[in-house]
Amino acid sequence: MKDCKLYHEILPDLVFDPQSVSDEAKTHVAACQECRANLESLRATLSLMDTWEAPAITPYFDVRMAARLREERAAAPASWFELLRARLQFLPTMQMRPLLAGALATLIMVGGGAFAGLTPPPVAPSAAVTDLRMMDRNAKVLDQMDQLLQSDNDSGATTDSTLNP
Ligand SMILES: [Zn+2]
Repeated sequence: MKDCKLYHEILPDLVFDPQSVSDEAKTHVAACQECRANLESLRATLSLMDTWEAPAITPYFDVRMAARLREERAAAPASWFELLRARLQFLPTMQMRPLLAGALATLIMVGGGAFAGLTPPPVAPSAAVTDLRMMDRNAKVLDQMDQLLQSDNDSGATTDSTLNP
């Protein structure tokens, strides 16, 4: 006669408080191989949990945490992409890298790289190019000044001639 389901719930009681368990249940568990096996596995699990200890927190945790927070606050505001890239570099598990790299690649493909700040910054022209441009601009300005002076002279001449016939 198998009443294992009936006695399943009293198995923890057999471990923690055997006196609260009825003789009937004890008899069954003692005679039933299945219930005894369950009881043993329960005992094994409980003893394993007894031996488990949480890793101690290093005494410098608070100091390091505060320093890290200060760094983050002092750091110049970065774009979300830079933040994401920084997180990628600090990932502890190597398996996550290809996964996130793939996600990034998808983002870049979707956005064409423009919104992610991946497009190269405009290249500053070299000093020589800048000089040439300035000279060109100066020449144009001088030309314009010459033209203005000439037209001034011309108009002055014409006005003079009209005013004083
Ligand atoms: Zn049983």
